[in-house]
Amino acid sequence: MSGRLVDAKVLGPARVAAPGWVGMNGPRHDPPMPSWTDTHCHLDAPEFDPDRAAVVERARAAGVSRLVLPAVQVADFDAVRALAQAHDAVYALGIHPLYVERATATDLEVLRQVLQARRDDPRLVAVGEIGLDHFVPGLDRAKQERFYLAQLALAQEAGLPVILHVRRSADALLKGLRRIAVRGGIAHAFNGSGVQAAHFVALGFKLGFGGAMTHERALQIRRLAATLPEQALVLETDAPDIPPQWLYRNAAQRLDAPQARNEPAELPRIAETLATLRGWSLQHTAEITSANARDALPGLVA
Ligand SMILES: [Zn+2]
Repeated sequence: MSGRLVDAKVLGPARVAAPGWVGMNGPRHDPPMPSWTDTHCHLDAPEFDPDRAAVVERARAAGVSRLVLPAVQVADFDAVRALAQAHDAVYALGIHPLYVERATATDLEVLRQVLQARRDDPRLVAVGEIGLDHFVPGLDRAKQERFYLAQLALAQEAGLPVILHVRRSADALLKGLRRIAVRGGIAHAFNGSGVQAAHFVALGFKLGFGGAMTHERALQIRRLAATLPEQALVLETDAPDIPPQWLYRNAAQRLDAPQARNEPAELPRIAETLATLRGWSLQHTAEITSANARDALPGLVA
Protein backbone atom coordinates (compact mmCIF):
# COMPACT_ATOMS: atom_id res chain seq x y z
CA MET A 1 0.00 0.00 0.00
CA SER A 2 1.32 3.43 -0.79
CA GLY A 3 1.50 6.32 1.62
CA ARG A 4 -0.68 8.17 -0.81
CA LEU A 5 -3.59 5.85 -0.14
CA VAL A 6 -3.33 6.56 3.56
CA ASP A 7 -3.18 10.28 2.83
CA ALA A 8 -6.31 10.11 0.74
CA LYS A 9 -8.26 8.25 3.38
CA VAL A 10 -7.07 10.13 6.42
CA LEU A 11 -6.50 13.63 5.10
CA GLY A 12 -9.07 13.78 2.32
CA PRO A 13 -12.26 14.11 4.35
CA ALA A 14 -10.64 16.56 6.76
CA ARG A 15 -9.87 18.98 3.97
CA VAL A 16 -13.12 18.76 2.06
CA ALA A 17 -16.72 18.43 3.05
CA ALA A 18 -17.95 14.87 3.49
CA PRO A 19 -21.68 15.30 4.00
CA GLY A 20 -22.54 11.61 3.97
CA TRP A 21 -20.86 10.56 7.17
CA VAL A 22 -18.93 13.25 9.01
CA GLY A 23 -20.86 14.75 11.88
CA MET A 24 -23.69 12.26 11.90
CA ASN A 25 -24.92 11.11 15.28
CA GLY A 26 -24.54 7.55 16.40
CA PRO A 27 -21.76 5.12 15.58
CA ARG A 28 -19.38 6.33 12.93
CA HIS A 29 -18.52 4.01 10.12
CA ASP A 30 -15.40 4.25 8.06
CA PRO A 31 -16.34 5.40 4.58
CA PRO A 32 -15.87 2.75 1.90
CA MET A 33 -12.66 3.11 -0.08
CA PRO A 34 -13.50 5.26 -3.11
CA SER A 35 -13.71 3.37 -6.40
CA TRP A 36 -12.27 5.31 -9.35
CA THR A 37 -12.60 5.13 -13.12
CA ASP A 38 -9.62 6.14 -15.27
CA THR A 39 -11.40 6.98 -18.52
CA HIS A 40 -8.19 7.35 -20.54
CA CYS A 41 -5.11 5.20 -20.08
CA HIS A 42 -2.68 4.10 -22.81
CA LEU A 43 -1.69 0.88 -21.09
CA ASP A 44 -0.33 -0.46 -24.39
CA ALA A 45 2.28 2.34 -24.62
CA PRO A 46 5.89 1.10 -24.76
CA GLU A 47 6.63 3.10 -21.59
CA PHE A 48 4.80 0.35 -19.70
CA ASP A 49 6.65 -2.56 -21.30
CA PRO A 50 9.00 -3.14 -18.34
CA ASP A 51 6.33 -3.43 -15.62
CA ARG A 52 2.81 -3.35 -17.07
CA ALA A 53 1.32 -5.89 -14.64
CA ALA A 54 2.73 -4.00 -11.65
CA VAL A 55 1.26 -0.75 -13.03
CA VAL A 56 -2.20 -2.33 -13.10
CA GLU A 57 -1.69 -3.81 -9.64
CA ARG A 58 -0.79 -0.40 -8.21
CA ALA A 59 -3.87 1.10 -9.85
CA ARG A 60 -6.12 -1.54 -8.28
CA ALA A 61 -4.47 -1.08 -4.87
CA ALA A 62 -5.18 2.66 -5.16
CA GLY A 63 -8.87 1.96 -5.80
CA VAL A 64 -8.84 2.52 -9.58
CA SER A 65 -11.29 -0.24 -10.37
CA ARG A 66 -12.13 0.71 -13.94
CA LEU A 67 -9.67 1.40 -16.78
CA VAL A 68 -10.60 2.56 -20.29
CA LEU A 69 -7.88 1.75 -22.85
CA PRO A 70 -8.13 3.75 -26.10
CA ALA A 71 -6.14 2.65 -29.15
CA VAL A 72 -4.21 5.10 -31.34
CA GLN A 73 -3.49 3.06 -34.48
CA VAL A 74 -4.65 -0.09 -36.27
CA ALA A 75 -1.39 -1.89 -35.51
CA ASP A 76 -2.25 -1.75 -31.79
CA PHE A 77 -5.88 -2.92 -31.98
CA ASP A 78 -5.15 -6.54 -31.03
CA ALA A 79 -2.79 -5.57 -28.22
CA VAL A 80 -5.28 -3.14 -26.69
CA ARG A 81 -8.03 -5.74 -26.76
CA ALA A 82 -5.75 -8.39 -25.26
CA LEU A 83 -4.76 -6.00 -22.46
CA ALA A 84 -8.39 -5.23 -21.71
CA GLN A 85 -9.10 -8.96 -21.44
CA ALA A 86 -6.02 -9.69 -19.37
CA HIS A 87 -6.64 -6.90 -16.88
CA ASP A 88 -10.43 -6.78 -16.70
CA ALA A 89 -10.51 -3.40 -18.44
CA VAL A 90 -12.53 -1.99 -21.36
CA TYR A 91 -11.17 -0.60 -24.62
CA ALA A 92 -11.84 1.67 -27.58
CA LEU A 93 -10.66 1.36 -31.18
CA GLY A 94 -9.71 4.27 -33.39
CA ILE A 95 -7.01 6.17 -35.25
CA HIS A 96 -5.54 9.08 -33.24
CA PRO A 97 -5.10 12.34 -35.16
CA LEU A 98 -1.32 12.28 -34.64
CA TYR A 99 -1.27 8.81 -36.26
CA VAL A 100 -3.41 9.89 -39.21
CA GLU A 101 -0.32 11.17 -41.07
CA ARG A 102 0.89 7.63 -41.69
CA ALA A 103 -2.56 5.99 -41.92
CA THR A 104 -4.21 4.91 -45.17
CA ALA A 105 -7.74 4.30 -46.41
CA THR A 106 -7.09 0.61 -45.69
CA ASP A 107 -6.78 1.45 -41.98
CA LEU A 108 -10.29 2.93 -42.00
CA GLU A 109 -11.56 -0.21 -43.70
CA VAL A 110 -9.83 -2.37 -41.06
CA LEU A 111 -11.44 -0.27 -38.31
CA ARG A 112 -14.84 -0.76 -39.94
CA GLN A 113 -14.36 -4.52 -40.15
CA VAL A 114 -13.03 -4.87 -36.59
CA LEU A 115 -15.92 -2.82 -35.17
CA GLN A 116 -18.24 -5.16 -37.01
CA ALA A 117 -16.44 -8.31 -35.88
CA ARG A 118 -16.28 -7.16 -32.23
CA ARG A 119 -19.87 -5.93 -32.17
CA ASP A 120 -20.74 -8.37 -29.38
CA ASP A 121 -17.55 -7.87 -27.36
CA PRO A 122 -18.76 -6.31 -24.06
CA ARG A 123 -15.29 -4.80 -23.47
CA LEU A 124 -15.44 -2.68 -26.62
CA VAL A 125 -17.06 0.53 -25.36
CA ALA A 126 -16.20 3.31 -27.82
CA VAL A 127 -14.55 4.48 -31.01
CA GLY A 128 -11.36 6.28 -30.02
CA GLU A 129 -9.04 7.89 -29.72
CA ILE A 130 -10.08 10.04 -32.65
CA GLY A 131 -10.21 13.78 -33.21
CA LEU A 132 -8.22 16.75 -34.48
CA ASP A 133 -4.91 18.23 -33.37
CA HIS A 134 -4.44 21.85 -34.43
CA PHE A 135 -1.56 22.39 -32.01
CA VAL A 136 1.24 20.30 -33.49
CA PRO A 137 2.57 22.27 -36.49
CA GLY A 138 2.90 20.84 -39.98
CA LEU A 139 0.13 18.24 -39.87
CA ASP A 140 -2.16 17.63 -42.83
CA ARG A 141 -5.39 19.14 -41.48
CA ALA A 142 -7.51 18.08 -44.44
CA LYS A 143 -6.47 14.46 -43.94
CA GLN A 144 -7.13 14.67 -40.19
CA GLU A 145 -10.58 16.03 -40.95
CA ARG A 146 -11.34 13.21 -43.41
CA PHE A 147 -10.32 10.56 -40.89
CA TYR A 148 -12.23 12.27 -38.10
CA LEU A 149 -15.47 12.43 -40.08
CA ALA A 150 -15.05 8.90 -41.40
CA GLN A 151 -14.56 7.58 -37.86
CA LEU A 152 -17.56 9.53 -36.57
CA ALA A 153 -19.60 7.81 -39.27
CA LEU A 154 -18.25 4.41 -38.17
CA ALA A 155 -19.15 5.20 -34.55
CA GLN A 156 -22.63 6.19 -35.64
CA GLU A 157 -22.98 2.98 -37.65
CA ALA A 158 -21.76 0.89 -34.69
CA GLY A 159 -23.95 2.78 -32.21
CA LEU A 160 -20.88 3.53 -30.07
CA PRO A 161 -19.81 6.71 -28.25
CA VAL A 162 -16.50 8.36 -29.17
CA ILE A 163 -13.39 9.38 -27.22
CA LEU A 164 -12.12 12.66 -28.64
CA HIS A 165 -8.65 14.20 -28.74
CA VAL A 166 -9.07 17.99 -28.48
CA ARG A 167 -6.11 20.32 -28.98
CA ARG A 168 -6.88 23.81 -30.29
CA SER A 169 -9.62 22.06 -32.26
CA ALA A 170 -12.80 22.24 -30.19
CA ASP A 171 -14.84 24.24 -32.73
CA ALA A 172 -13.80 22.04 -35.64
CA LEU A 173 -14.67 18.93 -33.61
CA LEU A 174 -18.07 20.37 -32.70
CA LYS A 175 -18.76 21.11 -36.34
CA GLY A 176 -18.14 17.45 -37.19
CA LEU A 177 -20.42 16.30 -34.36
CA ARG A 178 -23.22 18.48 -35.72
CA ARG A 179 -22.84 16.91 -39.14
CA ILE A 180 -22.59 13.31 -37.93
CA ALA A 181 -24.52 12.63 -34.74
CA VAL A 182 -23.02 10.02 -32.40
CA ARG A 183 -24.23 8.82 -29.02
CA GLY A 184 -22.02 11.18 -27.04
CA GLY A 185 -18.76 10.22 -25.41
CA ILE A 186 -15.82 11.99 -23.83
CA ALA A 187 -13.80 15.04 -24.91
CA HIS A 188 -10.57 13.91 -23.30
CA ALA A 189 -7.99 16.21 -21.64
CA PHE A 190 -10.39 19.05 -22.28
CA ASN A 191 -8.69 22.40 -22.79
CA GLY A 192 -11.25 24.54 -24.60
CA SER A 193 -13.25 27.55 -23.44
CA GLY A 194 -16.33 27.59 -21.24
CA VAL A 195 -18.53 28.21 -24.27
CA GLN A 196 -17.00 25.28 -26.14
CA ALA A 197 -17.40 23.09 -23.05
CA ALA A 198 -21.10 23.99 -22.91
CA HIS A 199 -21.52 22.98 -26.57
CA PHE A 200 -19.94 19.57 -25.92
CA VAL A 201 -22.17 19.07 -22.88
CA ALA A 202 -25.24 20.02 -24.94
CA LEU A 203 -24.27 17.31 -27.44
CA GLY A 204 -24.21 14.73 -24.65
CA PHE A 205 -20.47 14.70 -23.99
CA LYS A 206 -18.51 14.47 -20.77
CA LEU A 207 -15.23 16.37 -20.40
CA GLY A 208 -12.09 14.60 -19.21
CA PHE A 209 -9.91 16.16 -16.48
CA GLY A 210 -6.54 14.83 -15.39
CA GLY A 211 -2.98 15.82 -14.65
CA ALA A 212 -3.24 19.25 -16.29
CA MET A 213 -5.78 20.30 -13.64
CA THR A 214 -3.20 19.74 -10.85
CA HIS A 215 -0.95 22.55 -12.11
CA GLU A 216 -1.78 25.74 -10.29
CA ARG A 217 -1.20 27.86 -13.37
CA ALA A 218 -3.78 25.93 -15.41
CA LEU A 219 -6.35 28.59 -14.51
CA GLN A 220 -8.78 27.98 -17.36
CA ILE A 221 -8.87 24.20 -16.86
CA ARG A 222 -9.27 24.61 -13.09
CA ARG A 223 -12.05 27.13 -13.57
CA LEU A 224 -13.90 24.69 -15.83
CA ALA A 225 -13.36 21.81 -13.39
CA ALA A 226 -14.74 23.97 -10.59
CA THR A 227 -17.78 25.35 -12.39
CA LEU A 228 -19.05 22.91 -15.05
CA PRO A 229 -22.24 21.00 -14.20
CA GLU A 230 -21.19 18.00 -12.12
CA GLN A 231 -22.72 15.54 -14.60
CA ALA A 232 -20.19 16.75 -17.19
CA LEU A 233 -17.00 15.66 -15.40
CA VAL A 234 -14.97 12.50 -15.80
CA LEU A 235 -11.45 11.75 -14.56
CA GLU A 236 -8.53 10.40 -16.53
CA THR A 237 -4.75 10.09 -16.39
CA ASP A 238 -3.88 9.81 -20.12
CA ALA A 239 -1.00 7.72 -18.73
CA PRO A 240 1.87 7.59 -19.56
CA ASP A 241 1.36 11.23 -20.66
CA ILE A 242 0.20 14.44 -18.94
CA PRO A 243 2.14 14.04 -15.68
CA PRO A 244 0.48 15.71 -12.68
CA GLN A 245 2.29 18.59 -11.00
CA TRP A 246 4.14 16.33 -8.50
CA LEU A 247 5.67 14.24 -11.31
CA TYR A 248 6.25 17.01 -13.82
CA ARG A 249 9.79 17.83 -14.94
CA ASN A 250 10.33 21.27 -16.42
CA ALA A 251 12.54 21.91 -19.45
CA ALA A 252 15.71 22.34 -17.36
CA GLN A 253 15.06 19.14 -15.40
CA ARG A 254 14.43 17.28 -18.64
CA LEU A 255 18.00 17.97 -19.72
CA ASP A 256 19.05 15.42 -17.08
CA ALA A 257 16.12 12.98 -17.28
CA PRO A 258 13.14 12.41 -19.55
CA GLN A 259 9.66 13.53 -18.59
CA ALA A 260 8.34 11.36 -15.77
CA ARG A 261 5.87 8.62 -16.59
CA ASN A 262 2.30 9.08 -15.44
CA GLU A 263 0.31 5.98 -14.42
CA PRO A 264 -3.28 5.11 -13.50
CA ALA A 265 -2.45 4.74 -9.78
CA GLU A 266 -2.08 8.55 -9.75
CA LEU A 267 -5.80 9.01 -10.43
CA PRO A 268 -6.98 9.28 -6.78
CA ARG A 269 -4.37 11.95 -6.04
CA ILE A 270 -5.31 13.83 -9.23
CA ALA A 271 -8.93 13.54 -8.07
CA GLU A 272 -8.05 15.31 -4.83
CA THR A 273 -7.57 18.47 -6.91
CA LEU A 274 -11.07 18.13 -8.33
CA ALA A 275 -12.49 17.42 -4.86
CA THR A 276 -10.82 20.54 -3.48
CA LEU A 277 -11.95 22.71 -6.40
CA ARG A 278 -15.55 21.50 -6.00
CA GLY A 279 -15.66 21.26 -2.20
CA TRP A 280 -16.53 17.56 -2.50
CA SER A 281 -15.47 14.58 -0.42
CA LEU A 282 -13.28 12.05 -2.20
CA GLN A 283 -16.08 9.51 -1.94
CA HIS A 284 -18.55 11.85 -3.64
CA THR A 285 -15.95 12.75 -6.28
CA ALA A 286 -15.41 9.06 -7.04
CA GLU A 287 -19.13 8.31 -7.19
CA ILE A 288 -20.03 11.26 -9.42
CA THR A 289 -17.17 10.85 -11.87
CA SER A 290 -17.60 7.07 -12.12
CA ALA A 291 -21.35 7.45 -12.71
CA ASN A 292 -20.61 10.04 -15.39
CA ALA A 293 -18.12 7.67 -17.03
CA ARG A 294 -20.77 4.92 -17.14
CA ASP A 295 -23.19 7.41 -18.61
CA ALA A 296 -20.72 8.40 -21.35
CA LEU A 297 -19.58 4.83 -22.02
CA PRO A 298 -22.56 2.55 -21.26
CA GLY A 299 -20.35 -0.48 -21.97
CA LEU A 300 -18.56 0.21 -18.67
CA VAL A 301 -21.62 -1.10 -16.82
CA ALA A 302 -21.22 -4.64 -18.16
ZN1 LIG B 1 -4.80 9.66 -25.36
